Amino acid sequence: MRIQIHRGTHQIGGSVTEITSDDTRVFIDFGSELPGADGVVKPETLSVPGVTEGEPRCDAVFFTHTHGDHIGQLDRIHPSIPLYMGATARELCLCLNRYLADKGIDRAAALAALERANTFTPAHPITVGSIRVTPFLIDHSAFDAYMFLIEADGKRVLHTGDFRGHGFRGKALIPMLEKYVGQVDWLVCEGTMLSRSAEQVKTEHELQRDERDLMKQYKRVFVLCSSMNIDRIAGFAHAVPDGRAIICDDFQRKVLDVVQTRHGQVPLYDFSRVKSYDRTDAVLNRQMMDDGFLCFIRANHFGEKMLDYYGDDAVIAYSMWDGYLSEELENKKLTALLKSRNWVKLHTSGHATPDTIKAVCETVRPRCGVIPMHSECPEAFKELFPGKNVILLKDGELLEL
Ligand SMILES: [Zn+2]
Ligand SMILES: [Zn+2]
Repeated sequence: MRIQIHRGTHQIGGSVTEITSDDTRVFIDFGSELPGADGVVKPETLSVPGVTEGEPRCDAVFFTHTHGDHIGQLDRIHPSIPLYMGATARELCLCLNRYLADKGIDRAAALAALERANTFTPAHPITVGSIRVTPFLIDHSAFDAYMFLIEADGKRVLHTGDFRGHGFRGKALIPMLEKYVGQVDWLVCEGTMLSRSAEQVKTEHELQRDERDLMKQYKRVFVLCSSMNIDRIAGFAHAVPDGRAIICDDFQRKVLDVVQTRHGQVPLYDFSRVKSYDRTDAVLNRQMMDDGFLCFIRANHFGEKMLDYYGDDAVIAYSMWDGYLSEELENKKLTALLKSRNWVKLHTSGHATPDTIKAVCETVRPRCGVIPMHSECPEAFKELFPGKNVILLKDGELLEL
């Protein structure tokens, strides 16, 4: 069994990992690069013979989750190569890409790839040639996200994808690994937070409490967050006092419909109180004016209009990565929306803290070693695991496992 991380050994995002046995070749994720320090995404240069170019020579591509830095390049995978992803993740990606296509953006290849993608069931292995891949549902800022246990040639590798321990389902992580994964030979682990250690890490529960407090101070609360950060939206929506409206735009409501249809039996994912804003609905507008509201927005026309109309005496809860507000990585749409408005930060990371990474490693006790990825500081794994075999690969380097 061999591993080759085509991209992601020394950076966050753009993840592409290849695992091969003697007769089988699979990939974990096929992501796009995140914008660089100048805020610009470099033109895509990743070329993988047998996947993006030439005669197809790949047995499957498995996706850990819906973030663009893991799935963004799926439209460049040869259409004869089987794709696998979570069932709700697939629906969410279809929803997003249909929305973009409706706006005139060419998403035909991505939509075709998603339409033909296979879905998997948590904890049910999929065998492709001589490689067996078992997906395990984990907590991340993307809904329906997975770690993969990959088994071949008598070796077991746990590829973590992106994960965390401080979300609503974070507590299940270690017991799940103990019960279903056990000891592995290699741990391929994300290390996003190792270069973002200054970030304050609250749990989603703590954040929900903060939002509840904010709603005591303000009748009108806007939440600026990603439309796909479902657990954040769910946590905040369920903290809204009775009588206050919960509002979003049409696209956000469609995203919530996907989750509610598939997971609405879980109380957290019952979004029946969240309404798509309708300016002709006099009762709703009166309720918003008189009793207050929580309104999910993004930096777009809807967000601007709602702030213009309902922004007086309101507060915006900024619920995204604060790097977007930094000088180096400034997202101008976001900073323009917040400028001269009353706003507070209510956010927590989607990634594992060093302590959670340690706990995972202590649980799966990798016999052979740890391979960091999705990190700007993979060297920090050596400090985190003194005496352990930490292998710092370069992008494209082949390692016999
Ligand atoms: Zn990522
Ligand atoms: Zn992610």
